[in-house]
Amino acid sequence: MIMHAAPHRALVNEALAAAEVRVHRTIRRWAEDEIYLPDGPREGQRFSSAFSPFTGLVLDAFDDPRWRYFILTGSAQNSKSLIGFSIPTLYHLFEIGENVICLVPDDDFAYSLWAEKLRPIIERTSYRELIPTKGRGSRGGKFTFLRFGNGAVLRFISAVSASRQRGSRGIGHTARVGVCEELDIVARKTSESKSKEPGPWKQLQARTKSYEERARIYAGSVIHGPKDAAWEEIQKGSGALIMIRCPHCGVHVFPEREHLQKIALAQDSEEDARRLGGYTCQACGCVWTENDRAAAIHDPRLVHRGQEVEDGLVVGPAPRVKTFSVRWNDMHRWSNPRAEHNETVLANISAQEWLAEESQGDEDEQALCQHVWAVPWVPSESESDDLSDRNVREKVRVLIPNNRDSEKGRVPADAKYITVYGDVHKRGLYWVARAWWPDARCHTFDYGYHEFHGGKQSENKSIMAGLLDWQEDVLSRGWRDTDDRLRSIDAAGADAHWKPDAVFAWVRTANGDKPKGLYHAGEGFGSGHMMRAYKQPKPGKTVIPGQHSHRVYVSDRRAWRLDFDADYWKRFEHELWLTPAGNPGSVTLFQPRNLKRGHFSYSKHIVAERWVWEWDAKKGRTGHFEREGSNNHYLDASTGTCVLASWLGVQVVSDSDAQKKVVASYPERGERHERLAGRWRIGR
Ligand SMILES: [Zn+2]
Repeated sequence: MIMHAAPHRALVNEALAAAEVRVHRTIRRWAEDEIYLPDGPREGQRFSSAFSPFTGLVLDAFDDPRWRYFILTGSAQNSKSLIGFSIPTLYHLFEIGENVICLVPDDDFAYSLWAEKLRPIIERTSYRELIPTKGRGSRGGKFTFLRFGNGAVLRFISAVSASRQRGSRGIGHTARVGVCEELDIVARKTSESKSKEPGPWKQLQARTKSYEERARIYAGSVIHGPKDAAWEEIQKGSGALIMIRCPHCGVHVFPEREHLQKIALAQDSEEDARRLGGYTCQACGCVWTENDRAAAIHDPRLVHRGQEVEDGLVVGPAPRVKTFSVRWNDMHRWSNPRAEHNETVLANISAQEWLAEESQGDEDEQALCQHVWAVPWVPSESESDDLSDRNVREKVRVLIPNNRDSEKGRVPADAKYITVYGDVHKRGLYWVARAWWPDARCHTFDYGYHEFHGGKQSENKSIMAGLLDWQEDVLSRGWRDTDDRLRSIDAAGADAHWKPDAVFAWVRTANGDKPKGLYHAGEGFGSGHMMRAYKQPKPGKTVIPGQHSHRVYVSDRRAWRLDFDADYWKRFEHELWLTPAGNPGSVTLFQPRNLKRGHFSYSKHIVAERWVWEWDAKKGRTGHFEREGSNNHYLDASTGTCVLASWLGVQVVSDSDAQKKVVASYPERGERHERLAGRWRIGR
C-alpha cells in the first residue's frame, strides 16, 4: 500500500479495511444482493443480471484487474446509467468504503444527480442509514461533497471550475475512483465555457493518477458525432461489442442498423411500420421476430476488438490497453413480456426508423443514431452541386391539392405509355412505375418495395417466386387513369445482373411464347461499382441496337436481354429531375398523402449517386458515377423505366451538337436547362 505524507481519511479507511482483510463481494454479486431497480418496468424489483444478461458481462469486467478505465455507451434508458454510474459509485462507497470523485458539468448538476439518480437507489438499500442527515448535502441546494455514515466521501468536481477547487498542491482532491455519469454533457459544458480545463476524461485520469494501477474510472456517454472525445476513447479502448446469439443459425452477431428490415420503412403509416418491423440476421439472413430477439439477448458474449466467437466461445486476445470500452444498442433491450405486440422493442425501433425516414429534418436521424443505435451521427451530405434530394421532392405534381388525379397510383389520362422497372435484391424488389408522353415528359405515379417471402427455398427460387408475385399483385392489376379507365403496362423489366437465373425464368414465364414481349431482363453497364463499361455490339440476328442500349438474344436462356449504358441513362434520369416540370424531358411525382414527409426515401435514393467529371488524356472529358449514399435502389429502378420508355417509342435521341454545348456549359445550370430543352427529340 502506498501511504502519502498527509494522511487522507479515505486512505486511512482503506488501510483499516486492508488490515481487517475484508473480503469484498464481486461487483455483480454485490449489485444483485443490494440493488433494487429505481425505475422502469421492473421498478422496485431486486437487480438481476438475468434480466439483461449483458449487464452481468459488463459488471464482471469491472472486477478484471487488467482494466483501469471503463467507458460505456448504449441506447437511451437501457442500463447505461445504472451499470456505468450508479452501481460502481455505490459499490466503491459502501462495499469497499472508499472515496469517490464524481465529475459533473457544473455545481447545479451535483444536486440533481444525487437527488434523481443516487439517492432513490440508496433509499431502497440497507445503506439508507448511511445517508447524511447533517450538513449541506442532506438538505439540498449547492454542495460539493457528501460524507456518508461509513466515512466514505462522494465529492462532486465541476469540470468547468476545477481549478477553483484545487488546493495549493495543484490537482486538489484526488481519489482512487472517479465516475462520470454523462461524459458527453461534461465535455460539451467544458468546451462551451471556453475553460482552460482539459476534457473530462483527462481530468478524471489526473485525479486518480497517484493510485496508478489501482485507479478506476467509470464513465458512460451518449455518442453525438465521430469527433466526440468519448467516441475517440471508445475507439482507443478495447472496443468490445455485446454480441447476441441468433436463434436460427446459432452465430453470435452484433445487431446493427443496416440489417433492420427495410420493408417497414416503405409503409404508408407508422402503424404498418410497427407491425412489419423485423431484423435480418447478418449471418444467416433469417428474419428475427421479437421472440427471436428476446431469445438472442439471453445468450450474449462480450467480444473485444480483434476477438471472435467460435462455437459460443470468445477466442483471441483482447487489445493490450488500459481502457475497457463497450457498446450495445436498443436491440439488446430487455423485452417486456407484458408489452402489446405493436409496442415491442422491434416495433418501437421500426417506428422510429420510419419516422426518421419520412421526416425531412435531421433531428430524428440524429436521435436514432444517439439513442437507439449508439453510433456517431454524421450529417447527410446529400446536397450536391448537381441535384439534391430536395429538388426531387419539389417535383410533386400538384394539380389541385388533394385531388385524386395527382394521388399515388393514378395515371394521367393523356400519357401514352406505362413502364415499370424493378431492382432485384435478396429479400425484395424496389420498383418504380412511370407514365410517359412522347416528348419524354414523364410522371412517377407509383413505386414501392415488394418483399419476397421465400421461406426456406433457395435464393433463386425465392426471387423467382417473388417476381411472379409482383407480377400478379402489381403489374397485372394495372392502374386507373384520371378518366377512371384501367391502364395496363406497356413494358416492364427487372435487373438481371445479380440473379440472372431467377430473372430470366420470370421473363420466360411472364412473356409466354412472345420472346420480345412486355417483360425484360435488364442489365446495366457503366462506371458504377462492380460494373463493366457499356459497348454496343454490331447489329445482327441476335442484336438489335437501341439508344445507348441494345437487345441481345441469350440463346442458352431462350430469352432476350436488354443491355444499356447505365452511365448514360442514369445521367438522363438526373437530367429529368433538373429540367423544369412541364418541359420535354422532365419528370413529376405523385402527391404523397403527407405532403411534408412524402418521398423522403425515394428522393434520397435518386441522389445516392453523383456524376463526377474527369479528364482523360485519350478520351478527353469523361466522367463516372460516385456513390454518395448507401441506398440507390430507386435510382436504378427509375433509370430502368427510362430505358424501357426509349424502346417504346419515347425514343430519346440526343443531338450530338447540343450535347457538346451542354457539356461545355456545365455546370451552369440555368443555361444548361435551356439547351437541355432542345436536346430531346421525339423518336419514331
Ligand atoms: Zn442467424
